[in-house]
Amino acid sequence: MTVLGTVKKKLVKDIRVDVDKCTGCRSCEMACSAFHATPKYSSLNPAKARIRVIIDETKDIYVPIRAGEYTQAECTGRNLYTINGKEYSECSFCPSSCPSRDYFKEPDTGLPLKCDMCEDEPPLALPMCVQACQQEALIYIEREEEITTQKPEVKMDEMEIAFDALVKKHGKKKVMETFGRLSKS
Ligand code: SF4
Ligand code: SF4
Repeated sequence: MTVLGTVKKKLVKDIRVDVDKCTGCRSCEMACSAFHATPKYSSLNPAKARIRVIIDETKDIYVPIRAGEYTQAECTGRNLYTINGKEYSECSFCPSSCPSRDYFKEPDTGLPLKCDMCEDEPPLALPMCVQACQQEALIYIEREEEITTQKPEVKMDEMEIAFDALVKKHGKKKVMETFGRLSKS
């Protein structure tokens, strides 16, 4: 059997960050935690947010990072930096929920948290963190991407073998009747 691809369009949602505009107010964290509280909007707890605002001491800027995929193993060989006597690692700006740190984990259960773009029914006009950011440091974008879905193509000789097997098992008359019925449906 040959596998052919069918190209389809997929809507990809994303949030761009303009770090020059971020003031580190952390309203985005609050809004995210409120949206994901149970019941919705019943509490504010930045520890439950799927976005964290990190201070980049090397450049003296705030960097909002959204939670990405959970990773089962911590990375090895990452760089460490010491700035004004304080130690930083490349982990600081990583979006993953990972076993080696507490970022992006539900504080009560330890379960990994991931940004879900505030999926809701009906959909929000804008994700909550974008709505909450008064500085317009978070910019919501949508783009279309082409994806290839796998579609099996059955070759003629394979069909003939399958047809013969059906005829042997059920008889030609019954098989033809069934095909006729299926082609009308
Ligand atoms: S709400 Fe906007 S300005 Fe405030 S910390 Fe988040 S991204 Fe930065
Ligand atoms: S898009 Fe929604 S889930 Fe993702 S970080 Fe922003 S508020 Fe949280």
